[in-house]
Amino acid sequence: MYINCTDKELIILEKIAAAAKTMQVPCYLIGGFVRDKILGRNTKDMDVVCVGDGIELASKVADQFKPTPEVHFFRNFGTAQIKIDGLEIEFVGARKESYRSDSRKPEVEKGTIEDDQNRRDFTINAMAISLNKNDYGQLVDPFNGIADLEAKNIQTPLAPGITFSDDPLRMMRAIRFATQLNFTIEEKTFAAIGENAERIKIVSGERIADELNKIVLASKPSVGFDLLYKSGLLKIIFPQMVALAGAEYVDGMGHKDNFYHTLQVLDNISENTNDLWLRWAAILHDIAKPATKRFEEGHGWTFHGHEALGGKWVPKIFAQLKLPQNEKMKFVRKLVEMHLRPISLTKENITDSAIRRLLVDAGEDFEALMTLCAADITSKNKQKVQRYLNNFDMVRKRCAEVEESDHLRNWQPPITGEIIMATFNLPPSRRVGDIKTAIREAILDGIIPNEYDAAFAYMLQKAQEFGIIKS
Ligand code: ATP
Repeated sequence: MYINCTDKELIILEKIAAAAKTMQVPCYLIGGFVRDKILGRNTKDMDVVCVGDGIELASKVADQFKPTPEVHFFRNFGTAQIKIDGLEIEFVGARKESYRSDSRKPEVEKGTIEDDQNRRDFTINAMAISLNKNDYGQLVDPFNGIADLEAKNIQTPLAPGITFSDDPLRMMRAIRFATQLNFTIEEKTFAAIGENAERIKIVSGERIADELNKIVLASKPSVGFDLLYKSGLLKIIFPQMVALAGAEYVDGMGHKDNFYHTLQVLDNISENTNDLWLRWAAILHDIAKPATKRFEEGHGWTFHGHEALGGKWVPKIFAQLKLPQNEKMKFVRKLVEMHLRPISLTKENITDSAIRRLLVDAGEDFEALMTLCAADITSKNKQKVQRYLNNFDMVRKRCAEVEESDHLRNWQPPITGEIIMATFNLPPSRRVGDIKTAIREAILDGIIPNEYDAAFAYMLQKAQEFGIIKS
């Protein structure tokens, strides 16, 4: 066998080969499984192509296992899938494809193994391993994908312009593989992405999001975003991010290039978290800088309010990128809004009350916020970095101290709206909210302790002040 397989995989492969033999159809392992085995990466699903009926082959393979796995098939696509020991195996009949200009869905007809390899997106994804008796286990590699794997090279088997125009999702896939595998996209192939970038518009937003998220989850996601930017794809799928690029100068004073700053923050955070949404917070943390940019005489460049405006944009950007409109989006919004809070606390204003407010406002997302904040320190000025880091350590230390004494994480004031309404016989109203806020502020400012009795007394006092009860 050209590739290293586990004993379990070898048993499965022998059963597939036996089933294909009884059907008298040539049969091959193909695609990502072959590529990843050769690279020594973890493999999950196995793709099998046969020159015949893929659905029949899947059933014949399933029949050899006890208990017999269910065969899920999609007759329209001529594909079938079975799951054995957690391994998903997909069967398909070899096919030949031809495309129309308005769709990435091809006309499909039966074909040879060569036809099937021709329709694959990249040479490294077109390699097959024979499961046939005469050359069992041999590599079938008409486009020399193996050389490209060694050279860490991504190129299409056929002319790249046609390959990308036929199915523009392949442009995103090229960049995604380059990012995940740390490969280079061959020059003509990359140029063809630039030429066909507009074609990405015929691809559904969901598929684009899927590839984008895979790029975001790679170990160095900046590689993918830089390629998306340079190819022109990013401008089409996510123009707000492109607006971050470049630096403007007035009186010889420039600001940093916020696109490359963002990529640096994204790489930094990726060293410390695999959380997709925290990584998205890094991507979006400065997104409103271009819209808030001002040059102030005697002061230089400012971006006042970019965090609040950026947070406000998050739902719209998530909708545009077909990312979910759920609590993940709210989490990203909150982090974007709060990303300056920890680092803006300087020695002079690290009061207990400022720390309490930070802890309470961040709540269960405190650690995530601190991770984002640390990743955001990217200045080239070493002294500045050191100053920020010292400051940041100080904020962390003070937060730990205050947290230990006050237990404010996930904190709710001891007096609830219900208690206020019941005590003063009030309906839900603004006055209830006012009293609740006053109690919360008093506790955070250290005016009263974080205890029920003190808060209850304070509530009575405020009710008098607001004219709800008479003294
Ligand atoms: P991963 O599992 O990391 O996404 P993969 O290569 O297995 O990598 P799949 O999407 O599972 O990706 O596709 C399996 C195989 O099908 C690919 O290796 C490739 O040969 C082929 N393929 C998938 N999508 C396309 C496409 N859009 N155009 C041409 N061939 C494709």
